[in-house]
Amino acid sequence: LVARMRAFGTTVFAEMTALAVRTGSLNLGQGFPDTDGPAAMLDRAVEAVRSGLNQYPPGPGLPELRQAVAEHHKERYGLAYDPDGEVLVTVGATEAITAAVLALCEPGDEVIVFEPYYDSYAAAIALAQGVRRAVTLRPVAGRFAVDPDELRAAVGPRTRLIIVNSPHNPTGTVFTREELEAIAAVCLEHDLIAITDEVYEHLTFDGTPHIPLATLPGMRERTVMISSAGKTFSVTGWKTGWVCAPAPLVTAVQTVKQFLTFTANGPWQAAVAYALRNEMAWVASLRDELQAKRDRLVAGLTEAGFAALRPAGTYFVQADIRPLGFTDGLDLARRLPELAGVVAIPTQVFYDDATAGRHFVRFAFCKRDEVIDEAVRRLARLG
Ligand code: GLN
Repeated sequence: LVARMRAFGTTVFAEMTALAVRTGSLNLGQGFPDTDGPAAMLDRAVEAVRSGLNQYPPGPGLPELRQAVAEHHKERYGLAYDPDGEVLVTVGATEAITAAVLALCEPGDEVIVFEPYYDSYAAAIALAQGVRRAVTLRPVAGRFAVDPDELRAAVGPRTRLIIVNSPHNPTGTVFTREELEAIAAVCLEHDLIAITDEVYEHLTFDGTPHIPLATLPGMRERTVMISSAGKTFSVTGWKTGWVCAPAPLVTAVQTVKQFLTFTANGPWQAAVAYALRNEMAWVASLRDELQAKRDRLVAGLTEAGFAALRPAGTYFVQADIRPLGFTDGLDLARRLPELAGVVAIPTQVFYDDATAGRHFVRFAFCKRDEVIDEAVRRLARLG
């Protein structure tokens, strides 16, 4: 393995899911729902396979999906993208992010990420031989917040890119307009390109709006906006994502993407195009159900003795383990199957600053109510 990838090993999600399977524990670690997406969308995928949509789709993606993504962004955010040239379909958001970083980061360029950061960003930056600069989100009044001074201090002459993930995994923070304005100001002042990871765009609670960075003045031109179907339609295994950006940026990403995977799966693209056009009411009810599950898990964790933060988006809760007498989340996550028959994700693995997230673990609530209830019952043993 090349030196720059040696630090990565197996992802924490794979490690913790394997631990759950091995120990028969309830898996509130890896974020995937335990119920299916809308039935009519699943039928569309089956029909697409049966009707012979089984050869290479066009490299940029099926026209109907590119069109549906463009319509979605226009209707929902007022953002206009040309489906021919400004929209690219990828193998999930993961490929989109990696292809974007590989396309836009020269060796030695600096890339800003907000820590705790989703694990694939660090790997993508390493693949591109870029240099990661983490800006720490700090818990303030019950949410992990951006500190604009820390952000400004992280920018230097080699900074080229900033990766912005809102709603944010693993904290559940939804960036406020003020936070996004601070990010936009830095991008404009230092001529940075933003790569936005908006895979949880539809999963925000209590009416919290999701504001795409590209909607801020001057940002559409310099933003590579990424999302995918996995979270929105509860099909994390479909790995169907998309990039929207001005044509030169999309062309750059596509130049890389064509040699990573060439194209993405046809049948899922057809089904996702259908879902974007016809299943947004289903998504709204998913969001409402998730909000209730969030409250259920936060109440249960609080009862069990954790100090749980109530997230404004995503399907993750951050729980402070100190009130239970624990200090190290990684150690606790590894022992949790034996202590309680539950699996969680240690938050500290998403930080460069090893001390910053040490006393937090992440629990996922995209699970059936009976799974959440049983997990909470088991976790009550910790107290
Ligand atoms: N995004 C999911 C999570 O945060 C996991 C994805 C993965 O396993 N790589 O739990």
